[in-house]
Amino acid sequence: MTMMERFLKYVAVGTNSDPKSPTCPSTPEQKVLGQIIVEDMKEMGIKDAFMDENGYVYGTVEGNCDAPTVGFVAHMDTVIDMPCENIKPTRIEYKGGEIVLNKEKNITMTPDERHIGHTLIVTDGTTLLGGDDKAGIVEILEMAKYYIDHPEIKHGAIKIGFTPDEEIGRGADKFDVKLFGADVGFTVDGGPACGLSYENFNACAAQIDVYGTNSHPGGAKGVMMNSLWMAMEFHSMLPMDEAPQFTEGFEGFSHLNGMSGNVEHTVMEYIIRDHDKAKFESKKQRFEKIAAYMNEKYGEGTIVATLQDSYYNMKEPVMEHPEIIEIANAAIRAEGLEPVSVAARGGTDGARLSYMGLPCPNLGTGGANAHSRYEYVSVQEMETCCNILKHIVDMYAEVK
Ligand SMILES: [Zn+2]
Repeated sequence: MTMMERFLKYVAVGTNSDPKSPTCPSTPEQKVLGQIIVEDMKEMGIKDAFMDENGYVYGTVEGNCDAPTVGFVAHMDTVIDMPCENIKPTRIEYKGGEIVLNKEKNITMTPDERHIGHTLIVTDGTTLLGGDDKAGIVEILEMAKYYIDHPEIKHGAIKIGFTPDEEIGRGADKFDVKLFGADVGFTVDGGPACGLSYENFNACAAQIDVYGTNSHPGGAKGVMMNSLWMAMEFHSMLPMDEAPQFTEGFEGFSHLNGMSGNVEHTVMEYIIRDHDKAKFESKKQRFEKIAAYMNEKYGEGTIVATLQDSYYNMKEPVMEHPEIIEIANAAIRAEGLEPVSVAARGGTDGARLSYMGLPCPNLGTGGANAHSRYEYVSVQEMETCCNILKHIVDMYAEVK
């Protein structure tokens, strides 16, 4: 089976995850795909391939030399916001300009210029494609197959892990890092082949409870403490230019995400984000300082600030293995591309895995327009991405 045949086989199984579901995996279809993948892995010669009760798929390509164990991780679910049933993948030779996805419904799109001359797999404009992240899955399997079919090539042990529920932020939840047993890992999850991502936000959720005192408005003078007013006063002390709508790149923010209340009690929900640890801490301190100032002004207990860290920038644990980035960059260059480092303005499963003991930057898959009806993959770029994985394995074989 070619990589593309396998890709088409996997995208035919709709696997959207569901944030409202309490189970793991959140939807049963993910286990259906997981089982198909396990069977394919076994057929390929990955003898220990299995799926655990939570729908995580693991497997090993045994090493034949003394080298670090490298792991590759991709996710099996797709987003719930776009239909993922009855996907009608179509192969086109892209010559540039606008293409028609669906004549009947008049749906068109213009693929990226870098894909002129490539073979693309597109949708009919009514569903997503599922290249995020089934492209990552088949690239990892194709790489694994290569080493199984070429036992003469020296390499360390290669670990494979496919997770459910990445799109709803739970992909790392039940990932068994110990069982996986890799020294370093890579998520293979989206973006161009030249992309390497090893930075993401530090993240904190802050809930601000403001307590007031109600009274009849007619006799409120000197008595009423309006928590809605005090909540606005709190917010007005935050730097107004540090909001998501005014920031990009490496600029962090604090974001008022929800607000509800009455005279007696107002709740404000914020998220605080920054790539830089020191700036992240000072943003959090500002919340504490404003709360202290207002408690001084209006009385202890007026403001209760509850700050809870959510996740951290993976750069720190990744940099404890500086060879990861060097090798990933060299692997991308070996395919004639200049690596582009992308700082995620959010969190990733790789970031969480990095803090669970598996340093895990992200590599591209050759897909584009993820999470939309315009999602597509480039066959040539997927091959390039697969080659990058092979270069990484080859280069790690030289590391003692
Ligand atoms: Zn993804």
